[in-house]
Amino acid sequence: MEKLTACLREAERILVFTGAGISTGSGIPDFRGPQGIWKTQQPVDYRDFMTSPAARVRYWRQKLDGWQSFRDARPNAAHAAVADLERAGKVELVVTQNIDGLHRAAGTSRLVEIHGTNGAVECQRCGERSAPEPHFEAFGATGEAPACACGGWLKPATISFGQSLRQEDLARASEAAARCDLVLALGSTLSVYPAAELPLAAARRGVPYFIINRGPTEHDDLPLVTGRLEGDVVDLLPRAVAAVCSAP
Ligand SMILES: [Zn+2]
Repeated sequence: MEKLTACLREAERILVFTGAGISTGSGIPDFRGPQGIWKTQQPVDYRDFMTSPAARVRYWRQKLDGWQSFRDARPNAAHAAVADLERAGKVELVVTQNIDGLHRAAGTSRLVEIHGTNGAVECQRCGERSAPEPHFEAFGATGEAPACACGGWLKPATISFGQSLRQEDLARASEAAARCDLVLALGSTLSVYPAAELPLAAARRGVPYFIINRGPTEHDDLPLVTGRLEGDVVDLLPRAVAAVCSAP
């Protein structure tokens, strides 16, 4: 912890990389965890979504099941601590694997949501974005997968299985990995690639690399890791940040 606060104090361009563990404290289910939704449900592949009416309905039903917890979730102390670091002028970029919009809600603006967001619905043909609520309500009432006025299929603006990451998001994230002077991986098992490659790319430049997570991560045994804090990021990160960014 002392090593982390010392590095935080010196850093001016932190790359913050976050995963599901930062949002479980806000009531967002961890899709890949032991109780995760993907243990009981088969995710819908993007190609199937685009080609099969039954797959689209199955997809929207899964999304509708999780919608309430997303809609009701509020940022927690860890999201707030990340936003505090940005206000202190220390953040190059926050890259999150989460689709819950909680970093934005906490006030983080230097943000890439690398796996997209549940906060908008996007037409897969014309790209138009709209608010999700009316589409979920319509689907709940009719059971029919919603379509755009242009005839394209509507889908929450998340990256589905089998769907590529957005090039401009990847480019911004890679640039930050090349510029940062400290990298933090928070609440991620660092098992989903290519996203988990980002902190490694930074660490390979010799930049200090800290991991805070409850439970093992795939980077734990790498010699590139400067510090590894075991525990809940919602508990540990605010303490480290408070030691560095004292109230004005
Ligand atoms: Zn459209």
